[in-house]
Amino acid sequence: STGDIKILLLENVNQTAIEIFSGQGYQVEFYKSSLGDEELIEKIQEVHAIGIRSKTKLSEKILKHAKNLVVIGCFCIGTNQVDLEFAAKSGIAVFNSPFSNSRSVAELVIAEIITLARQLGDRSIELHTGTWNKVSAKCWEIRGKTLGIVGYGHIGAQLSVLAESMGMNVIYYDVNMIMSLGTAKQVNTLDELLGKADFVTLHVPETPETANLLSTPQFAAMKDGSYVINASRGTVVDIQALVEAMKVGKIAGAALDVYPNEPAKNGAGLFSNELNPWISELTSLRNVILTPHIGGSTEEAQSAIGIEVASALVKYVNEGSSSGAVNFPEVSLRALDLDQNNSVRVLYVHQNVPGVLKTVNNVLGNHNIEKQFSDSRGDIAYLMADISQVDSADIKSLYEQLENTPYKIVTRLLY
Ligand code: NAD
Repeated sequence: STGDIKILLLENVNQTAIEIFSGQGYQVEFYKSSLGDEELIEKIQEVHAIGIRSKTKLSEKILKHAKNLVVIGCFCIGTNQVDLEFAAKSGIAVFNSPFSNSRSVAELVIAEIITLARQLGDRSIELHTGTWNKVSAKCWEIRGKTLGIVGYGHIGAQLSVLAESMGMNVIYYDVNMIMSLGTAKQVNTLDELLGKADFVTLHVPETPETANLLSTPQFAAMKDGSYVINASRGTVVDIQALVEAMKVGKIAGAALDVYPNEPAKNGAGLFSNELNPWISELTSLRNVILTPHIGGSTEEAQSAIGIEVASALVKYVNEGSSSGAVNFPEVSLRALDLDQNNSVRVLYVHQNVPGVLKTVNNVLGNHNIEKQFSDSRGDIAYLMADISQVDSADIKSLYEQLENTPYKIVTRLLY
């Protein structure tokens, strides 16, 4: 029963998550900070689920002590604090929250478009240092200007709607054909976008293909006096090439929220010349907005992360659905009414080797299989089956037969 589920929440995960788990009747143990290794090892032994943010390192050394753990929730975007492969091999699904801050990023970009067009950063710095400098030359309204969005995914599409409502024309380039929102138009090549846009903003993932997506030839292909915004990933823009394009006046302004080498914590002096050799040249240019990776940093995004990850964990614990897991085959069936027809949902994680399903179906075959779905990812496979007409007396033996199959990793029965 859900009342038996124990969940350990560390690093002050959002209140929205605690409410969801408590609402399910789970036993919640909550800590504001992360735990030392020794304490973490002790606590992780008993729990079924754990929620962390970026500071808790769940390495093999820690995870091997977990006896009942079935799921890890990363209440953040990144998941490299968790040994994903070891977790998968141990039958532990890992979830994160990739999209709950899309709106926050889109709003930041809107602010930056106007800030660049009106040179607000420079005017503010000037007045902070005592200089009154009222100018209108090369300051523009954004109405009627063209915004070029590279990557029309969660963020790009949100931004498209916001920009259009302020009177901008929107064009976008994406490797996939994507249905446009409003009157935005997809273009066929990046070069076409660069030649038409007054503002170019990047919303692509970090992949080998997007490394230095904007470099010297791309800046050359842009309109004279256009602007560049990057709130995607630091590797996507060749910053040295951007500096050169700004020095000759080709690019009239730039806003950067992300960098190839970002400090891991807050503090002065961490954003060094050594890791970012272009930094002194960049900061001496006019109309450059630099922000410390704050695109998704809002109160709203934090609570959305709490809801998104907690809901995924509950769905996995209560129903077995692994949709959205980062390290696991994604398997899902519609919620099952366990009170009807003596139904049982079988959740079976196993090594992905030939012949396993035959063995499992031999076990399940004695019952009425209503639905079955399985998928694999690398070395791991996951089967979900809804069976009916199971006498409660048979449940224990069903469990034991599945537990004793070769290549089994985890068996769970919901009944
Ligand atoms: P998404 O996956 O929803 O969308 C990405 C889009 O880029 C997809 O439509 C994809 O087809 C397209 N794409 C992939 N490769 C491409 C290529 N080579 N050329 C053109 N298009 C390509 O992602 P999202 O949630 O919109 O996030 C976009 C980026 O923003 C990611 O890099 C993400 O890490 C970053 N991000 C930054 C912050 C921040 O704080 N600054 C916050 C959230 C996300």
